[in-house]
Order: sequence, then structure tokens, then C-alpha cells
Amino acid sequence: MTATTLIDPAPQPATAALKESLIGLGRPALAERLAALGVPERQRRMRVSQLWSWMYVRGVTDFDVMTDIAKELRAELAAHYTLARPEIVTEQVSVDGTRKWLLRLDDGKEVETVYIPEEDRGTLCISSQVGCTLNCSFCHTGTQRLVRNLTTGEIVGQIMLARDRIGDWPGAVPPDPRGLPDTERKITNVVLMGMGEPLYNFDNVRDACAIASDGEGLSISKRRITLSTSGIVPEIPRWGEEAGTMLAISLHAVRDELRNELVPINKKWPLKDLLEACRAYPGLSNAKRITFEYVMLKGVNDSVEDAKALVRLLAKIPAKINLIPFNPWPGAPYECADWEQIEKFAEVVNRAGYASPVRSPRGRDIMAACGQLKSASLKQRASERLAAPA
Ligand code: SAH
Ligand code: SF4
Repeated sequence: MTATTLIDPAPQPATAALKESLIGLGRPALAERLAALGVPERQRRMRVSQLWSWMYVRGVTDFDVMTDIAKELRAELAAHYTLARPEIVTEQVSVDGTRKWLLRLDDGKEVETVYIPEEDRGTLCISSQVGCTLNCSFCHTGTQRLVRNLTTGEIVGQIMLARDRIGDWPGAVPPDPRGLPDTERKITNVVLMGMGEPLYNFDNVRDACAIASDGEGLSISKRRITLSTSGIVPEIPRWGEEAGTMLAISLHAVRDELRNELVPINKKWPLKDLLEACRAYPGLSNAKRITFEYVMLKGVNDSVEDAKALVRLLAKIPAKINLIPFNPWPGAPYECADWEQIEKFAEVVNRAGYASPVRSPRGRDIMAACGQLKSASLKQRASERLAAPA
């Protein structure tokens, strides 16, 4: 199987952009929209729950199939609103089955969403911002200048369109079934590890997680949603209280001096504060651990001493350790640690009781691996420009 790129030729109708998409609205906001269309108050609750189910259980994209809603109301809804997801610019399928979508938002800005299938699960990696205001020295997303928060609808919309494309709605057939897992649900896990720092877009990400985990809707349990943060310490306890998903921390260094360089937000909230917030995260147990991500950079943070210090640092926290081979991007000032060194590092971590910690890079051929997001689209844009007739 070779990597393939599909350029979606169908532009959205011009009028669609003028109408609001209902995707991402919570129940109270939906009730307001219905009120504006003249739905009497006593009917609103029921209508909201019907809409909710069509939108989030069935994933329909057309009001007209909502057969339990009166025809006139369906027509009114269609006249004023859409069920649109962000527009897909390209869909790429890696040789390992990883899929990456480049999406265009209403204002023309672009983000990426990645789907990583495994035998018994499928993980969707979603973005929370266009770009990122932080400048972690090993991350390509951080080099992008234009930054804005995604709306709740744009975040939930990433899950919806991934489900559309992999046929993950009841009774749906995937348009391209290559590499999909054998599970009943194709998206079993969601990780906020795409573009952006999710805790800098707290409210929208929280509201999107509430919709994603709603038991009468998308039904992705909070146990299967993981938010990854570079360490916005004051927001961590708030996230625990208000959202309560699983947590991943982009640690990458065990000494403040080095972490200041790799993850500059560490100057504001150093390791001590970060680990204290982790220790206090609600509900931690052996079954609910914090994941610590550690990118392996050659000669920078990959020594056996670092591994030992890492184990010591996490001693009293229910933790998982994820060693991530550095994924290179054009102009990156680092190299990936040698495989032999990663194994030595992993051995120390394994001996301390952490199981299989090396995350194998997925979708490298389509630049879908951690920290590579956006570069592919920039490159692709350049090649498209070159290929375009003068
Ligand atoms: N901003 C959040 C979430 C997005 S980054 C955060 O930093 O946690 C998702 C993960 O990919 C983070 O652990 C990040 O440190 C890691 N990452 C970034 N660039 C990478 C690269 N080039 N190679 C491997 N991992 C990278
Ligand atoms: Fe932003 Fe995360 Fe990249 Fe750092 S690693 S620049 S926080 S996306």
C-alpha cells in the first residue's frame, strides 16, 4: 500500500458559509435556536433531544432525514442552519493506515486532524488551536505565526468528519476501509495532541469534551479522552474539576535548565509546580494515571542519567511514560536519539515498572506524526503553487 492523497474537489456551496452550523452547540443553545424559529417552549426539550440524537448518534448531515421532526420545522431549520463540519481540503492515507485530514475553517485558516488505527482501537488526534503561541524548540507547530482558538464546533466537527470518513456511524460503510480496526466503533479514543495548547483554549475545549463524552450523543467516555498540555499549571486543577478527562504532560526534560530551553513555558511554571499540580489531579489511581510524554532528542535529554532522574521525579505519581522518538521537520535543530540509546533509556524506565513505553512513530510518510503537523500542508501548498499553470 502506498500513501495516497485525495484532494476533495467539491467546494462548499457559497450560501453554506452564511448559515450557522449547529455542530458544537450545547443543549441550551440549541433550545435558543429553536425558540428563534418559533418552536413553543413546551416542545423545545423534546425537539432538542431529537436533534441531538440525529446529530451526534446518527451523524446525519441533512435535516430532511430527521423523520420524527415535522416537515415544516425541518424546512425552517434547513433555511437557517447547517450541520456542516469543517471543509476537508485533503485526505492522506499512510502506508501504515494512519489518516490525516487538512481542514479549512470558515475564515480560511487551516488545521489538521490525524486518525491512528490499531488492531483493537482507533485513536483520533485533534487540534485545539490554529498554530500555537508557545515555542517549544523541537515542535514544528510552534513555528507557525498565525494563531487563533478553535471554536467548540470546530473541535467537535473534527470528530464528526473523521467519523464520516471512516464510516463510524451506525450502519455506515467507510468510503475507504483500508487499515481500519476490527472494533465495532472505529474511534475508541480521542487525544488533544494535535495543533495548539488546549489549556489556552480552555472553555471551548471543555465544552467540546462535554459534547464528545455525552452519553446520549457521541458517547466517548472521559476515560478515553486525553488532554495533552505543555504545563499551563494554574489550569490543570480547573481542568480536573470542570472536564475530568485523562491528562498527559509534555515533560521532555527532568531539569529546569533544560526544560526552560525545550518547553519555554517552564520558565513561568517550573517542574516543581507542574509536578505538584499533577499529584493533586483528581481521581488518580493505578487505573487512572497521568501520561508523561518524553521526546527523545539525541545528545540532549537521552542519557541513562536522565532516565534515572525521570523515574525518581515521577516516583509518587500514578504515571505512564511515553517515550516519543523525535519526528524531524525541515530545519529542526535536533536529531532523533539513536535507537540503541532509546533502548537503554527504556530499559531503565521498564525496570522501574513502566510497561512498553516507546511510542512508535505513525504516519511519518504523510507528516502526520507528533510535532510534524502543518509542515506537510505548507510543503504541499508550495508544490501546488509550483504545479499551477502561470
Ligand atoms: N500543545 C500540547 C499538545 C500538542 S503537542 C502539548 O505540547 O502537550 C502533542 C505532543 O507531541 C506533545 O507531547 C509534544 O511535545 C509532542 N511533539 C511536538 N513536536 C514533536 C516532534 N517533532 N517529535 C515528537 N514529538 C513532538
Ligand atoms: Fe505548542 Fe505543544 Fe508544540 Fe509546545 S509542543 S509548541 S505547546 S503544540
